[in-house]
Amino acid sequence: MSRLPFTLEATAPDSRARAGRFRTRHNEVLTPTFMPVGTHASVRTQRREDLLECDAQVLLANTYHLLLRPGVEIFEKFGGIHGFMNWPRSVLTDSGGFQIFSLPGSRTMSEDGAEFRSYVDQTTIVLSPERSIATQKVIGSDIMMALDQCVPSTVEHGVARAAMELTHRWARRSLEARGDSEQALFGIVQGACYDDLRIESARAITQMPFEGFAIGGLAVGESIGQRDDCTAVVTEHLPHDRPRYLMGVGTPRDLLEAVHRGVDMFDCILPTSLAKQGVVFTSIGRRSLKRAAYWDREGPLDPSCTCYTCRTYAIAYLVHLRRTWDTQGWQLLALHNLHFYMHLMRSMRAHVVAGTWTEFYRTQREVLDARDSYGHKVVRVTKAERLANAMRRGRYEIVLNDGVARMRDTVSGETMHSVNDPAEEARSLYVEQSRLVERLEESDAPPLVVWDVGLGAATNAMATIHAVEAMDPERRKRRLVLVSFENDLDSLRLALRHPLWFRHLHHAAPHALLAKNQWLSASGAVDWLLMSGDFAARKFDAPAPDIIFFDPFSFKTDSDLWTLAAFRELADLCRHKHTELFTYTYSTQVRAAMLAAGFHVAKGRATGPKVETTIGLSPLAAERHGHELLGAEWLSRWQRSDAQVPLGASGDDAWRTAVEEHPQFRSDVSAAKESRAGSRSSHP
Ligand SMILES: [Zn+2]
Repeated sequence: MSRLPFTLEATAPDSRARAGRFRTRHNEVLTPTFMPVGTHASVRTQRREDLLECDAQVLLANTYHLLLRPGVEIFEKFGGIHGFMNWPRSVLTDSGGFQIFSLPGSRTMSEDGAEFRSYVDQTTIVLSPERSIATQKVIGSDIMMALDQCVPSTVEHGVARAAMELTHRWARRSLEARGDSEQALFGIVQGACYDDLRIESARAITQMPFEGFAIGGLAVGESIGQRDDCTAVVTEHLPHDRPRYLMGVGTPRDLLEAVHRGVDMFDCILPTSLAKQGVVFTSIGRRSLKRAAYWDREGPLDPSCTCYTCRTYAIAYLVHLRRTWDTQGWQLLALHNLHFYMHLMRSMRAHVVAGTWTEFYRTQREVLDARDSYGHKVVRVTKAERLANAMRRGRYEIVLNDGVARMRDTVSGETMHSVNDPAEEARSLYVEQSRLVERLEESDAPPLVVWDVGLGAATNAMATIHAVEAMDPERRKRRLVLVSFENDLDSLRLALRHPLWFRHLHHAAPHALLAKNQWLSASGAVDWLLMSGDFAARKFDAPAPDIIFFDPFSFKTDSDLWTLAAFRELADLCRHKHTELFTYTYSTQVRAAMLAAGFHVAKGRATGPKVETTIGLSPLAAERHGHELLGAEWLSRWQRSDAQVPLGASGDDAWRTAVEEHPQFRSDVSAAKESRAGSRSSHP
C-alpha cells in the first residue's frame, strides 16, 4: 500500500519544472502547490472558508508550537487537527526542527534530541525524533516530517557535516517510530550551502523509504543565488516519482525559480506576514501600501485579480484601514496575497501541462521582481500633489532627471529612453543611422515612407521633421511620408502640457496631428499621419515602409510587438521593399525572432551605455547595405544562450532551423568552405 500515491503528469522541456498530483487521506493535491502556514492550527487572519475558496489543498501546522499549546490531549480529544479546526483537506506537520534551531539560546542538542524550555509554562521538554513522530501521529497530519537538525546555511563545513549526519540518523529513527501508521512521512535533505554535502545528504535520505523529500535549511541566511543553486543541486539527486518540498520558501519569485528547478511543494509565512506590513504581491509586481502615492488611488490592488478584496475595495480604502490600524486591513491584504500565491501556483502548473512553461517563466521573472511602479514624485503636500497630478495622465507620468524629462509607463514601471537623452538618441539612432536625409536627396524616387512605431512623446517623429526642415530645399528630391503608430495618445498629450521640458514639441505639427490625425508641412515636404490603435492591426493600413523606427516600450510593456509572429507579419509587409528597421535593443531573443521571421540582422550603432543596437533588413535591403551583419560568432553565442527562444514561439516551431540556416550565416559558412576548397585545389 502506498501512503501517498504520486503521479508525475508532465515535465517542461528545457526545464525541470513538473506537474503532478498525489492523494492524501483527505484529498487529491495538484502540484506544484503552495501550503499556507497555519502555525497554531490557524492561518493568521484567514477564515476556513477563505482558505477553501482560494483553493488551499494542504495547510502547514507546526508540531513544536502545537505540542506546547494546546498540547496533545486536545488533539486526542478532538480526533486530531482535522476535527479540532474543522479542516476537510490535507495537513502537513513540520517536525519542530526549524523551531528548535530558531529558538534563541535556550536549547541543548544531543544525539537523542533537543532539550528546551517551553515558552508557555517554562517546563523542560525533550524533542526527539520519536517524540516528534508521536506528536505528529496524535495531531493526525496527512504528511509528517522527520526531525532534522537545521543549522544556518552559512556555517563551516565541519559543523554542516555533523548536523547532516545527525539528521540522517534521526531520519532512520523517525521511520522506525512511524511504524505502520497510515500517515505519510517525508525525509529532509540538509547540508547547508555545500554542494558535496547536499549531494551526499540527498543520496543518503533517498535510500530510505520516505513518501517524499524535503530540502531543509534554506531561507536561513544564504543569498538568493545560493538558494537557487542549492535547490538545483538537490533536485537533480531526488527521485522523479515522489514529491519534493522546499521548506519555508519564499517570495513569488523564489517559487517560480524553485519550480523551474523541479520543486513541487512550498510553504511560507510571507503572504500573511507581509500583508500585516501592507505589502502585497500583484500581477504587476510588489506594492507597499505605505507609500504616500496610494492614499487616494482608485481601482483594485491588482487589476487582474479576482479575489474578494480586489473585487470589493479600492486601494485607497485598504490604505485607510491600515492607517487606522483596523485588523480588517491585514485580513483583506492577506486574503489577496494568498489568492495571488495560489493563482500563481495554478498558472505554473497549467503552463507546465500545456508545454508553455519556458515562455511563462521568462516573462514572470521580470514581473515578479518588479517593485512599486508609481509614486516617486508624489509628496503629501497639496501644492506638490497638484504638481504631481500635472505630471500624470492616464498610465503615464513625467520623470525628471538631470533636467531631462522622460515618459514613464506607470503600469509597467518602464521609462522610455531611460538611459539616454531622448533627443540625442532620436537623432543618432534613428535619423542619422537610417541616412534619412541622404535618401530624401535621391531623385526619381517615390515618397520615402518612414514608420515611427511607438509615437510616445513624438521624440523620434519630431527629430525627423526637424531634420527634413533643416535640409536645403534644392537638394530635397523626395517627399517624406511619416507614419506614426500609437495605441495610447496620453503620453503625447501629457508632454504637450509641459512645453518647457519637451522643447522638440514647439511646433504646429504635433497639435495638428492630435486634432486631425494628419499634418502636412506648408512646403509639402512632409506628410505626417497618425495611425492610432494597436500596431498589430494598424500596420496593414499603412503604406509599406522604407525605414522603420521600431521604438515601442520593451517586451515587458508591449509584449505583443516583440513576438515571432509580429516580426513575421512585419517581414511580410516589407518583402517587396528595401526596408531597414532600426531598434534600440540588442537582445538575443529579439534578434533571433527577427532572423526567424526572415529579416537579415545587422549590428546597429552604440547609444549611451548600450554597446550595440539592432538593424533589421528585408531580403531586398540585404542585397545592398552598409551595415555589419551578425556573423557565425553571434550564431554560436545564440546557440549557447539561455535566451534562444523568440518571444511567443513554441518549442516545435520551425524557428530554430530558420535561424540556423538563415542565408546570412550560410554565406558566411559557404564563403569559408569555398575559400578552403579553393586553397586545396590550388595546392593539390
Ligand atoms: Zn486580489
